Amino acid sequence: MDARHLSKRLATAAEFVPVGARLADIGSDHAYLPAFLALRGRIEYAVAGEVVRGPYQNACREIMREGLQEIIVPRLADGLAAINADDRIDTVTICGMGGPLIRDILSAGAPQLLHHPRLILQPNVGEDNVRRWCIHHGYGIVAERIIREDRHTYEIIVADYDQGIRQLSPEEELFGPFLMREHAAAFVDKWTRERTKRERILHHVQQAQTSAEARISQLQSQIKMITEVVPDGNGK
Ligand code: SAM
Repeated sequence: MDARHLSKRLATAAEFVPVGARLADIGSDHAYLPAFLALRGRIEYAVAGEVVRGPYQNACREIMREGLQEIIVPRLADGLAAINADDRIDTVTICGMGGPLIRDILSAGAPQLLHHPRLILQPNVGEDNVRRWCIHHGYGIVAERIIREDRHTYEIIVADYDQGIRQLSPEEELFGPFLMREHAAAFVDKWTRERTKRERILHHVQQAQTSAEARISQLQSQIKMITEVVPDGNGK
């Protein structure tokens, strides 16, 4: 992958960036996503935020290599601290991290979200954390995608402030309000595998419970036998 050839995962997230956007890509690593959009003239401006020096340097190199310094600004910063009011960011992408980390980045960055940018979020796991955060912070989920790439399944969640579905049932939080209705092949495949995983865990837990019950009853009968031969209180 490079800025000219995006993965299907990032290309799907890129589809939801409005033309002419002022974008903040948080956890940008090589800045492939903003660079891809800038090369196609699809964004006006972008911040590529990274908290780790190595990926930040990757971003700087990619931006220089593609000659995009006028459009993309790399910043070494934690989460949404990478952006400030002068950036006039209207779209935020956070891709390729766990759902709980994306949620924490959004929560910690409340001051940077004052103007309610569109959020395009691609959690690798724990997607329900991201949906819950959106709904509890005035964001409605307006689109979702599920894709399969390199034997992984990825979900992309797009949320706009004060629009879309405002209440989510527990099922919608877990499966995604759009994804559960669409029932695409990747969705059925993902949740079939998730069910098998849970069935396997349940089997192990039940086995452990059965052997714990057997051990409890063995210990109880041994205590009883000992008490019959050496009554409690003797030898004190
Ligand atoms: N967004 C790219 C993508 O989807 O291909 C890179 C994903 S990479 C797996 C996750 C990146 O997020 C890493 O480079 C990591 O350093 C960065 N990251 C993790 N926590 C971060 C935070 N709090 N602020 C900024 N970047 C963060």
